[in-house]
Amino acid sequence: MEIIHADYLISSPSVEKCPDPNKAEYAFIGRSNVGKSSLINMLCNKKDLAKVSSSPGKTQMINHFIIVSSDKREWYLVDLPGYGYAKRSIKQRNSWQKMIEGYIQKRQNLVNLFVLIDSRLKPQKIDLEFINQLGEWQMPFALVFTKADKSTQREAANNVNDFLKELLKTWEEVPPHFVTSAIKKTGAKQILNFINESNTSFQAHRNKA
Ligand code: GDP
Repeated sequence: MEIIHADYLISSPSVEKCPDPNKAEYAFIGRSNVGKSSLINMLCNKKDLAKVSSSPGKTQMINHFIIVSSDKREWYLVDLPGYGYAKRSIKQRNSWQKMIEGYIQKRQNLVNLFVLIDSRLKPQKIDLEFINQLGEWQMPFALVFTKADKSTQREAANNVNDFLKELLKTWEEVPPHFVTSAIKKTGAKQILNFINESNTSFQAHRNKA
């Protein structure tokens, strides 16, 4: 499966303002600078779709993109504001928490959340804490280890393994995970296949309902 069309739709300040939940939806989140915009641009094969390095002071919004894939399905891709900006005030952090919590807990058509992790780093507390929170919210997620081109394959693989090992301290099984590089353009196919399979089961469930 490939993405044929990807267009920016709308930015919403809260889940209540999001577009009608009438299509399968996939959201992306991670620490600031993890490579989220670059990943979204790579998946959609469009250079400037998501703005690379949006500034931390900007209004935090839930950004919807409408996607048409090669199987003629339409679905939503969502760019969520990240966590871990050093420059954010406590007030901004609280409003981020409220917005993300509302979105994750109430968005009925949200099929999967992709949590991005920098493959150059040893497991970071902030990522682990966010993921453990997803468990409490019972939100299905997959991990995307970004910037794989920045270290040797072995270093990246070690960091991925360390991260998964760390997760197994609180989780019973390892989540689906992908390794990507926006520079080498690797890993997109695997993520899109995963979305394709999820779209198929989303549709099957909806047809049953
Ligand atoms: P965001 O803040 O999470 O949206 O991250 P960006 O996509 O803006 O990327 C942050 C910085 O990392 C930018 O300078 C990107 O060019 C760089 N970057 C993103 N992805 C990759 C990657 O796969 N490989 C390398 N080498 N650099 C990347």
